[in-house]
Amino acid sequence: MAPLPLTSTRTLITKEGEFDLDFVKEAAQDEVKPHPGKYHTIGILYHTYYHILACVGFYHLFYLKWQSLLWVIFYHYCGIIGIGTGVHRLYSHRAFKATVPLRILLLFMYAIANGISAFSWSRDHRVHHKYSDTDADPHNAKRGLFYSHFGWLLLHKHPEVINKGKNINLDDLYNDPILMFHHRHYTLIRFITCIVIPIFVPTYFWGEYWLYAWTAGHGLVQVFTSHCSYTVNSLSHQFGMKPYDTSYLASECRLSNGLTLGEGHHNYHHAFPYDYSHGEFNSFLLPFNLFRLPNGSTTFIETCALLGLAYDLRRPPKEMVLRRMNRTGDGSLKVE
Ligand SMILES: [Zn+2]
Ligand SMILES: [Zn+2]
Repeated sequence: MAPLPLTSTRTLITKEGEFDLDFVKEAAQDEVKPHPGKYHTIGILYHTYYHILACVGFYHLFYLKWQSLLWVIFYHYCGIIGIGTGVHRLYSHRAFKATVPLRILLLFMYAIANGISAFSWSRDHRVHHKYSDTDADPHNAKRGLFYSHFGWLLLHKHPEVINKGKNINLDDLYNDPILMFHHRHYTLIRFITCIVIPIFVPTYFWGEYWLYAWTAGHGLVQVFTSHCSYTVNSLSHQFGMKPYDTSYLASECRLSNGLTLGEGHHNYHHAFPYDYSHGEFNSFLLPFNLFRLPNGSTTFIETCALLGLAYDLRRPPKEMVLRRMNRTGDGSLKVE
């Protein structure tokens, strides 16, 4: 597809990846004020229950049958792909197009982590990009590592998130019948995906003890998969270099990248949010770089494209990336 236009400022005009530079610059001058939100009682109880369950599940990992251990790892990575490739790259940023079977599969995989609906996730993520690291960002990294990782889930939303969130264009999400079906029936879908399947499959097919399947297969996978994805909001907004644009807190975090199969190239991602590849290296179609981790989600998308399940993969021209690096990067990455 044709390259996307840059305005005279460095605001990228894509409705799925807008960045309000003026607002963010102005907010950067302000000191971080105390969060006015109240504690989210249901959220606190929910996360307390799941973290206790996950701790027991971790203990039970050592008693699992080998088939269950492989299943737990497989199901965890399905959840990671569902979040990174599904709700993030496909629905939040429209970085590629997907056929109906792939969209259904990705929404199914997304529900493994038992988070908010894919529609709500995509909406909040667009707010995050447009108002990064301000009070209007749902997980404002300026409030610290714990808040951006997990603390924001224990509070009601900051009023600015709700206020500024009204400016986000969600027409494409509302017009996606599969996504809206998923949103309307999400309680049932996540009950099946996150609870029924991870307990039923190991107990029915290879006779795993139901208690181990419940704590490790369901509880631990749900919590660990969620925490891996949370690192993109926390670690990738605190640690790492900024070769593409120093005006974001978003950075290139290897740990987060490894935990999320490629979502940690976050400085690149905030600079080019519509890019399906979320980085420049290490997939089937991208050049190899010894110093970068494999980009698992990008390889998954490219595989789907080869199978005819994904198409219109979006990427900025190489020259645009180089110009951006020279203009706004920190010089930490040299690319010929
Ligand atoms: Zn971010
Ligand atoms: Zn994003």
